[in-house]
Order: sequence, then structure tokens, then C-alpha cells
Amino acid sequence: MSPTVPRIVMKFGGTSVADLDRIRAVAEKVRKQVEAGCEVAVVVSAMSGVTNRLVGYCRDLSPQHDEREYDTVVATGEQVTSGLLAIALQNLGVNARSWLGWQIPLRTDDAHGKARIASIDGANLISSMQAGQVPVVAGFQGIGPDGRITTLGRGGSDTSAVALAAALKADRCDIYTDVDGIYTTDPRIVTKARKLDKITYEEMLELASVGAKVLQTRSVELAMKERVRVQVLSSFTDGPAPSEGHLPGSLVVDEDEIVEQEQVAGIAYSRDEAKISVRQLPDRPGIAAAVFGPLADANVNVDMIVQSTGDDGTTNMTFTVGKTDLTRAISVLEANHGATRYTELQTDDDVVKISVVGVGMRSHAGVASTMFRTLAERNINVQVISTSEIKVSVLIASEYTELAVRALHTAYGLDAA
Ligand code: ADP
Ligand code: ASP
Ligand code: MG
Repeated sequence: MSPTVPRIVMKFGGTSVADLDRIRAVAEKVRKQVEAGCEVAVVVSAMSGVTNRLVGYCRDLSPQHDEREYDTVVATGEQVTSGLLAIALQNLGVNARSWLGWQIPLRTDDAHGKARIASIDGANLISSMQAGQVPVVAGFQGIGPDGRITTLGRGGSDTSAVALAAALKADRCDIYTDVDGIYTTDPRIVTKARKLDKITYEEMLELASVGAKVLQTRSVELAMKERVRVQVLSSFTDGPAPSEGHLPGSLVVDEDEIVEQEQVAGIAYSRDEAKISVRQLPDRPGIAAAVFGPLADANVNVDMIVQSTGDDGTTNMTFTVGKTDLTRAISVLEANHGATRYTELQTDDDVVKISVVGVGMRSHAGVASTMFRTLAERNINVQVISTSEIKVSVLIASEYTELAVRALHTAYGLDAA
């Protein structure tokens, strides 16, 4: 291989391959990149809406379906797109071939439905690229230790792409989507959101993990670990083939590549959580362990927690769990009532978690107080709070999502001019 040939992984998400016209447009983009002299590997998602439909089929047939069969079903979406894009590329005279996870192979652990990548053998793809062929890889899928198809969790094609970029030692991983970069918040709810030229791995990781769906959390984790240069850009705008030094999208980079560090890099929201209040627990040592131990044993992830103690020897525990875990969490708490002796359980799934994220918080005080003041001025009640080194999150009623995110965006000086 000539060391001067740039190697790029191009990933296209669901809306970018939503129909045959979009697939033709994507093929055109890939052709341009090849003609610009790059070695290119492509990763595709299922056509928009397809994965949701397939997930729905499994749930409708059986809410407690076998996860191995779920993977067999949902992985088909990406198989269709990889074949279609290979055909569209061949139509344009580009030598292309589809690859499924097991053909690479992309090996994962056995956690069907949310598998983690164990290893990727890049040798076959590299020889195919060096022979002038464009591999079109079905994202989201791999092969487990039992030899069966696995999938990587919703949004997992991002992770396929980054992992592939690491395995192929690519110069860059370009994530093409329906917005032209990473913004200070979801541009679909805040029109004044500002596009970021660069964001640190750490901030992007935190934003993704608190709900910014633009990149799957694991893809950022992996990019950070493997030092993959990730760019997010639009598949809908037509420009010249991107070249280094003049990138149209947003780059995820190391902290030292960012000259001016804002206090807050971005704001995210998540509607995926539900609140549980366990009321009037006996206020004694070990009560938190008695509540949360059985939840952990049942694989229920608890996120935010507050404890408020009364004067009457009782205490209330309020916390959040994933909306999809709510029913399971309640049954676990009820089954464990003998050990906790609470008087009442209350639940609310009409809540949203709003988070502000920025590495600048390490050196600036006052980020949290600005958040509380801004929400108070809008009469928005904060129900639960949690913080980490570079993040403050609050739980509020979901009807205030847009209002809160917009107000905070303005309060932290993030609005576009
Ligand atoms: P794809 O199908 O290409 O994987 P996704 O829907 O998973 O696309 O991710 C893109 C979406 O992420 C955008 O349409 C946007 O609404 C949302 N989004 C949330 N937060 C952000 C952010 N901070 N910057 C850009 N997009 C964001
Ligand atoms: N098609 C899968 C999903 O919708 C994976 C992806 O698009 O990244 O979750
Ligand atoms: Mg996505």
C-alpha cells in the first residue's frame, strides 16, 4: 500500500439511505471520494423506519421474545441496504461488494440485542480495498461466540463504522447523517443551535450518554480509546469531496486541539427515563443498599438519585430508571417490600432529563447555579439533580423540554448570532 493514499470510512445513517433516490445520491458521494484518490470502506444503516418496524414485529409477536431471534430479524435491515448500495455503486462503474458482519468477520460478545464488539479481522477488507474494490459493510451487526448473528444496540452502525476505521487504520471516519454536524444542542428543537467545528471526545461521550442521539455512546467511547478521527457531516448537501484541512462537518478531537474552551459545550435531553419515589422508608443504615441492591441484581440501571429525610424517622428515596425498565423495577421493589417496609411507591414517566456538558466546568464555578436560576425564572420545577465532573443534569416535567433547553442555551451564551 502506498502510504500516501488516504483511507476513509464513510458511514450513512437511516435517513441518508431512506429510499432508492437517496441510495443513488449516496453512491454518487462514495464515487466522488473514490475519484478523489481515497481508499474507501462504506458502512450503512437500515433504510429509515425499517429497524423500528422489525423491532415492532418481534414485540408484537411476543413481548418476551428470544433475543437471538430478535437479532436475526433486525439485522436484515442493514443487509438490504448494503446490497442495494453495492448495486447502485456498480451502476456508476464503481467496483463494490457488500459484506455482512459474519463475512468480515466482526466478532462480538454474546449479549444479543446489545452486543459489544470483541474483534474485527480487517485483513479481508484491506485486501479488497487494495485491489480497488469498495466494501459496503452492513452496520449494526456481528457474529457472536455461538456463531449466530448479533446486533450492537440501537444506533449501533456508528459503532460499526468507528470500529472498522480503527481496524483498517483509516485516516478518518466520516459519519454522514441528516444534519451537517454536531451542534450545541439538537438543532431540531433549538433553531439557534450553533454548529461546532470541533468537540472533545470527552464532551461528545458525555453528551451522547445523556441523550444526544447524533452518535451512539459506544462509538465515541471507542473513538476516544482508539484515537479515531470522527467527523459528523450531512449526506444531503452536495459539496466537493471533503479533503483534510477543509472539512465541512464537525470533528471529534482531543482537548488540546481546541483553542477556546467554552464553559458549556452543549446541552442534551433524554426522554428515556422514568422517576420512581419510594416513600417513608425506615431511616436506618443499610436502607439504600436494601432498595438498590435487588434492582442491581435484576439488571435495572439506576441513574439519578435523591434521598430526603423527614423528622419522623423515615426517609424518601427518589431515583430514575430507563423507561423500558420501569415495570421490572416496580416488581422488584414490590417483591422486596419485606426488607424495605416503605409505605408507598410513586412513579412518573412524564419526565425529561436535561443535561449541560462542558470540560470548562472543571475550572469554572457557577454552571449549576446558572442552570437552577434559569429554570426557576421560567417557573420550571427541578425534581432530581445529578452532577459529574463535566456535567449537570436535572429531571423536569417533559412538557417543559423545549422551553428549558432553549432558555439554558441562551443562558450559557450558546445561541448562534
Ligand atoms: P442517523 O440515522 O444518520 O444515524 P440519527 O437520527 O441517529 O441519524 O442522529 C441524527 C440526529 O441527532 C439529528 O437529526 C438530530 O435531531 C439529533 N441530535 C441530537 N442532538 C444533536 C446535536 N447536539 N447535534 C446534532 N444533532 C443532534
Ligand atoms: N438500524 C439501526 C437502528 O436504527 C442501527 C443504526 O441505524 O445505527 O438502531
Ligand atoms: Mg444514529
